[in-house]
Amino acid sequence: MSMEDYDFLFKIVLIGNAGVGKTCLVRRFTQGLFPPGQGATIGVDFMIKTVEINGEKVKLQIWDTAGQERFRSITQSYYRSANALILTYDITCEESFRCLPEWLREIEQYASNKVITVLVGNKIDLVEKREVSQQRAEEFSMAQDMYYLETSAKESDNVEKLFLDLACRLISEA
Ligand code: GDP
Ligand code: MG
Repeated sequence: MSMEDYDFLFKIVLIGNAGVGKTCLVRRFTQGLFPPGQGATIGVDFMIKTVEINGEKVKLQIWDTAGQERFRSITQSYYRSANALILTYDITCEESFRCLPEWLREIEQYASNKVITVLVGNKIDLVEKREVSQQRAEEFSMAQDMYYLETSAKESDNVEKLFLDLACRLISEA
């Protein structure tokens, strides 16, 4: 029997423009809460959550940026050894969607060629302020061969699904 308390360990890294809700997604998933106000900063490098999938214990090490994305100073070390990337934009912010090709270039440059990338359109609770249609995002994700999901960290929509589906895919490709 293994000495470890898990069957699989995966490193998941969140990227995307500042303000799209990366920290809130991580906190919703790992702590089950939505931080009030603007105070979403975690201030630690990563958070851990262990989930069980088909009887297997899957330890997820989830890396958030501590504001480096504002200065475009995310470095290679951040991407290194990531098994999966959650590329996030804000459905109410056209600019965050238009920056996606820049993020894809970074992925190409720094991440492993085996990395699994999920495109996430966050803040679907603000659908009345939507600037990026679902169809546009679907077309983009298909062209880039990325899995695509819309979430709300605030209302907890699809957040669990995002991480659990990703864990399933990581296991199946491990
Ligand atoms: P980050 O810079 O990508 O880490 O973004 P944050 O997680 O700090 O969130 C930026 C802002 O968006 C904060 O004011 C959050 O309260 C807000 N926010 C994050 N996720 C959601 C969401 O799903 N719905 C709504 N309405 N606001 C959100
Ligand atoms: Mg953040």
